[in-house]
Amino acid sequence: MNFIKIISIIILISILSCKTTQKPNIIIFLVDDMGWQDTSVPFWKEKTNFNRVYKTPNMERLASEGMKFTQAYATPVCTPTRVSLISGMNAARHRVTNWTLRRNISMVKDPVGLQIPRWNMNGAQPIDSIENSIHITPLPQILKNNNYKTIHVGKAHFGALTTPGANPLSLGFEVNIAGHAAGAPGSYYGLKNFQNKRRNEKIWDVPGLEKYHGKDIFLSEALTNEAILEIDKSIDDKKPFFLYMAHYAVHTPIRGDSRFEQNYLNKGLDSIEAKYASMIEGMDKSLGDIMNHLNKKGINDNTIILFMSDNGGLSAHARGGEKHTHNKPLKSGKGSLYEGGIREPMIVKWPGKTKKASSTNKPVIIEDFFSTVLEMAQINNYKTVQNVDGISFTSLLKGEIEIPNDRSFFWHYPNNWGGNGPGIAAGSVIRKGDWKLIYYHLDSNFELFNINKDVGELNNLASSEKVKLKELSKELGNYLRKVNAQMPIQTSTNTLVPWPDDKEILNVH
Ligand code: CA
Repeated sequence: MNFIKIISIIILISILSCKTTQKPNIIIFLVDDMGWQDTSVPFWKEKTNFNRVYKTPNMERLASEGMKFTQAYATPVCTPTRVSLISGMNAARHRVTNWTLRRNISMVKDPVGLQIPRWNMNGAQPIDSIENSIHITPLPQILKNNNYKTIHVGKAHFGALTTPGANPLSLGFEVNIAGHAAGAPGSYYGLKNFQNKRRNEKIWDVPGLEKYHGKDIFLSEALTNEAILEIDKSIDDKKPFFLYMAHYAVHTPIRGDSRFEQNYLNKGLDSIEAKYASMIEGMDKSLGDIMNHLNKKGINDNTIILFMSDNGGLSAHARGGEKHTHNKPLKSGKGSLYEGGIREPMIVKWPGKTKKASSTNKPVIIEDFFSTVLEMAQINNYKTVQNVDGISFTSLLKGEIEIPNDRSFFWHYPNNWGGNGPGIAAGSVIRKGDWKLIYYHLDSNFELFNINKDVGELNNLASSEKVKLKELSKELGNYLRKVNAQMPIQTSTNTLVPWPDDKEILNVH
């Protein structure tokens, strides 16, 4: 073999090995308050009327290129979901069980009859010296330590005002566009500088988008433009990127996106629902613009997209039409322990790994994203200060193994969200196989549903399926004690709410 031949082989081998070790870009596309049915992609066994009303062609496109999850779960409200995502912890363990804003202040008064525990109202923190917070090694920090360019765009809502966790840059993001402590924008309009001038305080002003101030642009589009600029910078830097594209949409204030609003008015939607649907379609356009850009830059085949929402669709107030019906066939909405509050539209596209246009009905939960993303990024050697509860679902995406049906999922919400409606209450939940048990803290009452047969949770089987109730309440109690979950105090007796498997409670049922 001559010298030139040997050199050519060496070059070829190094090109090939470079190709196989090239890390994928990863995009988490997180929508705020988007319900399970707020899309033209059907997530139920049949197409619903909502699927016919909403227009999300880019979600359809993503679903045609990836895997749809029909039983994907988050927590009932914003911050607990976001903290679970970047920590891998279940909310019962991280104790950021409600939404955060001001330091050391629980933003909602206690529910009638309960005194809520001293939960971690300052959110997630990268250090251990902040009171009332959970110290974590955040997901973006691990990715950054492993040569990823970590980009935060949109709503953060991880930690309270004046704490490090309020700023995405302290949580391992190298770039922060528009993220801070608040969980809603002052305004969606560039013409209003994304501020609410009627409010005296500046905490709702979306930070850092000055170049769009005074311009006729909707927030979702401004964020998308900025995300695309950051993608280009990562390509120039020859670094893989992690883009956390966390839209403020479709959280309140519900405002019309003029690009799409008229179409929904023409369809006969009332004015609020037309505005809401226009925000959904604007968010969907953002997804499409990003997907188009990946194509244009030739990185489509090496970029993973995980689409998710952070809690159920808002239905208790601020919407048009009848309350608590916006997520049908699911019951209730944001803030609720029923499926309407926690079941999310989720789609994952992993080029070359996930079968196109596939679907799974295996349940997954928001804390699973942590381990999944790290595995996708081929990062095995990392340490966290926190106990990670989530389980990677990469094998599910690859279709390699059947995940057993006996995994249990837990929710713990010893708080008050602020809205009222079905299942909007302090409580704890276990889901195992087809069964779901809800334990209400106020009156130690149970509800038991067969979710497979009764997705609308209309048929409470707590009094007829006593063996199942006892089995699940025992497992729920064991879990809550194991992770040191906080229970509220019943004000009538001034005692802690009993564990769900307390003997006296079970004797009554
Ligand atoms: Ca939310």
